[in-house]
Amino acid sequence: MRDLKIPQERHPEKAHRPDNAQPKKPDWIRVKAPSGKGYSETRAIMREHKLVTVCEEAGCPNAGECWSQGHATMMIMGDICTRGCTFCNIATGRPDTLDAFEPGRVADAVQKLGLNHVVITSVDRDDLGDGGAEHFAQTIRAVRHRNPDTTIEILTPDFLKADAGALETVVAAKPDVFNHNLETVPGLYPEVRPGARYFHSLRLLQRVKEIDPGIFTKSGIMVGLGEDRQSVVQVMDDMRAADIDFLTIGQYLQPTPKHHAVDRFVHPDEFAAYEKSAYGKGFLMVSATPLTRSSYHAGDDFARLRDARERMLGRA
Ligand code: SF4
Repeated sequence: MRDLKIPQERHPEKAHRPDNAQPKKPDWIRVKAPSGKGYSETRAIMREHKLVTVCEEAGCPNAGECWSQGHATMMIMGDICTRGCTFCNIATGRPDTLDAFEPGRVADAVQKLGLNHVVITSVDRDDLGDGGAEHFAQTIRAVRHRNPDTTIEILTPDFLKADAGALETVVAAKPDVFNHNLETVPGLYPEVRPGARYFHSLRLLQRVKEIDPGIFTKSGIMVGLGEDRQSVVQVMDDMRAADIDFLTIGQYLQPTPKHHAVDRFVHPDEFAAYEKSAYGKGFLMVSATPLTRSSYHAGDDFARLRDARERMLGRA
């Protein structure tokens, strides 16, 4: 596998953390190195529009495959996050002021990439009163205005510290899919997601469905952080109780020695067992493989998700 050379000085906030050895990856985690015309074109469009992508910021292992097809997940509101999750490769600090022209540039980039389905995410912006909700809504509206046939998936922060009404602002812009990741099991939150609250995140997704039942809800966790299987199954039950449609489960990969240690590499058979169990619990759509990420194959999965709902409603 390509080794992502991520400078550690990027994470001064994690300098106090002990070094955790990065174990050798197993054979089943092999990815294509980023290269080729499609990859270069996607990269050029991101640079031309001065857009940040989570693919690059997080050092995603799927970048070679996704970008060769033009599938980049744009990350709005800058590249500095106000949270310090121990698994995450995004830098923590004081973010820049919002760029009012960014929604238009995202819309232009979606058009240039010719996307049928786009995934837009952001850093956490606890420094803003609305947590960035209005900027998300403006971006959704700009993308839809310029690309009326493109379906829009958003992957949002938790708006834990935002003013009342922030979530409603985003939902009112009518994304096709509202994704917010639980990231891990509740017992690991103090170590892995110290600034977040498990039941707040669950409730956020439940409220999206209550406000607008037409929006698909989606959430995911990483495995290999130290969770046990029973806790994973419990998270699935919690998600179904919150009416979440689409579950993603992928292997945690450690960005640098300063990040949370990989506890284990989960075998593909265990992922298959999670997938089977999740479908049994009633999720409309499940993606559970070592390389599953929130936005991996999101366009194809959206089409399947829509078909699954039509079947469930007896309309197909
Ligand atoms: S899986 Fe998502 S984050 Fe990773 S390269 Fe693909 S689009 Fe980007």
